[in-house]
Amino acid sequence: MKIMPNRMDRGFYQYQQEFEEKALEVLRSGWYVLGKEVSAFEKEFAAYTGAPYCIGLASGLDALWLAFRVLGIGPGDEVIVQANTYIASVMGITINGAVPVFVEPDAHFGIDVDRIEEKITERTKAVLVVHLYGMPCHMGRITGLCKKHGLYLVEDCAQSHGACFDGQMTGTFGDVGCFSFYPSKNLGAFGDGGAVVVKEEALDKAFRMYRNYGSEKRYYNKVVGANSRLDELQAGLLRVRLKHLDEITQERIAIADTYTSHLKNPLIKLPVLAEHTTGVWHQYVIRCEERDRLLSYLEEKGIGTIIHYPIPPHLSEAYQSFGYQKGDLPVTEHLADTVLSLPLYNGMTEEELDCVIRAVNEFC
Ligand SMILES: *Cc1c(COP(=O)(O)O)cnc(C)c1O
Repeated sequence: MKIMPNRMDRGFYQYQQEFEEKALEVLRSGWYVLGKEVSAFEKEFAAYTGAPYCIGLASGLDALWLAFRVLGIGPGDEVIVQANTYIASVMGITINGAVPVFVEPDAHFGIDVDRIEEKITERTKAVLVVHLYGMPCHMGRITGLCKKHGLYLVEDCAQSHGACFDGQMTGTFGDVGCFSFYPSKNLGAFGDGGAVVVKEEALDKAFRMYRNYGSEKRYYNKVVGANSRLDELQAGLLRVRLKHLDEITQERIAIADTYTSHLKNPLIKLPVLAEHTTGVWHQYVIRCEERDRLLSYLEEKGIGTIIHYPIPPHLSEAYQSFGYQKGDLPVTEHLADTVLSLPLYNGMTEEELDCVIRAVNEFC
């Protein structure tokens, strides 16, 4: 049996008729960018998360960099961020000329709250948390810390649609919650898309202005903004997927639970959610000291896996100029050498799941 790390086609076929009807409806409507589908999606996604406002954007990266832009964070400012993340989190900071200050992760892949305070300087303006793999960070302690030090709190929720801390949805704890709807995300579009959720009306207005060339009124431009508009086709298709997101999440949780109860191999460490959190299992990430051998072994058995992520941002060629060396962030670097994401997707069959479990358990 051949098993791929992800099968986005399966997620499409689960709701094929609804997607196809919506696509035709939008195509026939004659209105394609920022229209009634986007407005409806923004209302529905805000209601889903529990945030007062949602603003549709063109991507998750745009959500991140526009968040720091709108909060007035730029050159000379520092933003604290966990070092084990997808590089887009860091680019959201550096596009604005601000400096990322890296913090090592805890045992649940989230920012290590005990190591935040030592990184705060007079230039620190914000903390960016990443609910990596759909496993929420410890928001209780982090919101307290940000309040105490007068820092903005931004959440990268690109992998955590619907994930909760103490029953409250990720994205609603800080000043801005940033989402991606890239096709492989839990709430995926059929192209690029993103959004932010915010609590304050002033921020809602600012994002609406920035996403559309900095204009509130056509051809009157207040600031140098961006073209970061969600299109009607993606918004319409996202509305279909959002209606089913709870089912989609439950299916992912069931797959992850099956992995957790059936994977038994002393060479492999399983992911564990932190207390007070409900995960949505964007990825099921195991750790193995002999990760590369495990990856090739699974590949030989026809099982595809992915490393999220093999090079931490501080060691990426793109950030050479920061001057980091191997060894500067040992916890993060060790994760990069040992993590492996097992296949997990909506529409995964029991047979496929059994096949992965058997292969991993037989690895020696
Ligand atoms: C996918 C992702 C992003 C970027 O989203 P895009 O829509 O691809 O721009 C940012 N952060 C994390 C953690 C992601 O997984």
